[in-house]
Amino acid sequence: MIRFENVTKRYRGTSKPALSGVDFEVQRGEFVFLVGASGSGKSSCLRLILREDVPTTGRVAVLGRDLRSLANRKVPYFRRHIGSVFQDFRLLPSKTVYQNVAFTLQVTGSSRGFIQQAVPEALALVGLDGKQKRMPHELSGGEQQRVAIARALVNRPQVLLADEPTGNLDPATSVDIMQLLARINAGGTTVLCATHEAGFVDAMRRRVIELSDGEMVRDEVHGGYGDTSNIPRLVPEEVRGAAAAAALTAVQEVQRQTADLSVVRAALAEELSAQRRAAASALSSAPEPARAPAAPVEKAAEAPREPVEERPVAPGPRTHPIVLPQVDVAELGVADRLGLSDDDAEEVGPTS
Ligand code: ADP
Ligand code: MG
Repeated sequence: MIRFENVTKRYRGTSKPALSGVDFEVQRGEFVFLVGASGSGKSSCLRLILREDVPTTGRVAVLGRDLRSLANRKVPYFRRHIGSVFQDFRLLPSKTVYQNVAFTLQVTGSSRGFIQQAVPEALALVGLDGKQKRMPHELSGGEQQRVAIARALVNRPQVLLADEPTGNLDPATSVDIMQLLARINAGGTTVLCATHEAGFVDAMRRRVIELSDGEMVRDEVHGGYGDTSNIPRLVPEEVRGAAAAAALTAVQEVQRQTADLSVVRAALAEELSAQRRAAASALSSAPEPARAPAAPVEKAAEAPREPVEERPVAPGPRTHPIVLPQVDVAELGVADRLGLSDDDAEEVGPTS
């Protein structure tokens, strides 16, 4: 999905390359932390992926396209597949939350109907429904970053790039934002997050690519921040520790929600096949009422089994109603509709 082949980047007028022989590949659906001290080349990597810049030597391929051979006029269409968020949010100060998120869609010519559906969905996904009419200065930093994330997602990109997304936020708010990124990734979007925040990286145990003076020095599947002794610290140690603990809780919450969702899916599939069985036995004019199946939620949770009650399947209530957080299921629906969990068959778009 994203591939760097022996990429070197020299900026004009500098003696040392900002990136030197960088080689990695990010697969679809991965969550990758790009770590390293200030000046190590993280933002340069992200700019190459966005085609805001081109390598001096080597090759960058994104979504199956060699960016060197991507014509300039196609770049805006290419970028629609990549959402990006930054440390400084970059909202339009004179536009409302809704207008900020709608703006990209308007300038890229989306229909009004699509905008009216997609903007509230994206805002709901980041937990900002109800704040559509606020101005950016009326929001907290965390809320502003959520608007920026909604804006990045509203075009249904396959990749989300985040360059120090928590760099301007306090630890508690940073946890919320990292949790949101993890949820977005759980919906299927590939996430590449450049960060200094050792606490999150250590807690989340995702893939870590580390740069040092433009060279890739580490690529671990479930990495931590690694030896941080030489890396400047942004927050005092004790705050960092608290942030790490909070991040871990947040990640476990995401994992729990994801597990719940798979239980819900299994339950729904079971329900469907029970209804099919009931319909089939009704058709074959069975004299006895069909039986409700044992609740699969219990099975998955390995809870003690109760005797299965006999009762008609339809239209009566289920023996064991599924009580799971509705909001999670709804959010997953939004994520699906936003294309966060779908395939990437779509082409780059019109070339004119
Ligand atoms: P990071 O995001 O890890 O802090 P950057 O990619 O911003 O690192 O910078 C890597 C190196 O490239 C640094 O030495 C920086 O000074 C240099 N650099 C970045 N952008 C430019 C530029 N536009 N012109 C010249 N040098 C640059
Ligand atoms: Mg940077």
